[in-house]
Amino acid sequence: MTELTSRLLKDRSLSLEEYAALIRTFTDDDAVILAKEACRVRDEVYGNQVYVRGLIEISNFCRNDCFYCGIRRSNKKCDRYRLTKEDILSCCEEGYSLGFRTFVLQGGEDGYYTDAVMCDIVKEIKSRFPDCAVTLSLGERSSESYQKLFDAGADRYLLRHETADAEHYSLLHPTELTLENRMKCLKDLRDIGFQVGAGFMVGSPFQTAEHLAKDLCFIADFKPDMCGIGPFVPHSDTPFGGYPTGSAVLTCFLLSVIRIIHPTVLLPATTALGTILPKGRELGILSGANVAMPNLSPATERKKYSLYNNKLSDGAESAQCLDELKKRVASVGCTIPVHRGDVKKG
Ligand code: SAM
Repeated sequence: MTELTSRLLKDRSLSLEEYAALIRTFTDDDAVILAKEACRVRDEVYGNQVYVRGLIEISNFCRNDCFYCGIRRSNKKCDRYRLTKEDILSCCEEGYSLGFRTFVLQGGEDGYYTDAVMCDIVKEIKSRFPDCAVTLSLGERSSESYQKLFDAGADRYLLRHETADAEHYSLLHPTELTLENRMKCLKDLRDIGFQVGAGFMVGSPFQTAEHLAKDLCFIADFKPDMCGIGPFVPHSDTPFGGYPTGSAVLTCFLLSVIRIIHPTVLLPATTALGTILPKGRELGILSGANVAMPNLSPATERKKYSLYNNKLSDGAESAQCLDELKKRVASVGCTIPVHRGDVKKG
């Protein structure tokens, strides 16, 4: 075991420079040791349970033009769709009977979903399914808008920070999008009372070990309730279509480090990880993850929410195949409970 790994096990935290050095120099042996410790910590906090969320991709219209994303507004080849309130409710209906008690409504920044439209949808879900949590992931909005959504009953909000380095952020996004505003949104969400999710892509273009070290320091400092991390996967109809896919090994290593530095975090084994590796979900769980988000979107629209090439939406990624996911989760010693799966506070 290298010295930095034993320091991390002892102190549960490293400096920025040390995280960068760890990311540059970790060995297979370090990865195995940290994964084992990450699972021990996860089991201590959450038992051997993997929480599931039904993911409903409500729209692929987006006003933004993020360079990495397949549903960016400049992608003229993207076949656009949006779900109505009735569509979304019937996804929830189906999800509820399958055993889901959290619905994640995710989409591009689509002007159709005004505060009035979204609040109406959230209120209706909460009144029909009072034992369920509603998570929103609809990008950047004003604090007044977030407050209205919270007052309507939304419980959680996922907004990946994407990278904690402002210069790197500016290389991934057009000028109108800034890290400063992203961070303001995360702070607003926390202040309002949401359970908040941050997160980043691993292996995004121009990313260095120092950038990832900044992400780890941000996670240790902000302590989000959830942290979505997955490999960058290129989409051929974006400016980053020619860049390489992020590393699954590094993604799993970072999952373990994050579990160790922030034990109570809800950590998904992401679809992107499952897309680049046949056993990606299982490896994520074996690295310390404890959340899976199978797809509950209408089957006719699923392929259209194409964030990156070959994005999975069937098999264990499909909410309808929960039994397959249960088997895969059982193969790594975990079970899937039927409840909301809230964060445990430290
Ligand atoms: N519009 C909302 C937002 O910006 O938070 C939610 C939807 S956005 C498509 C969800 C996440 O997809 C982003 O936070 C980003 O990290 C991820 N994503 C987009 N393109 C990706 C790619 N090429 N590879 C991996 N992840 C990607």
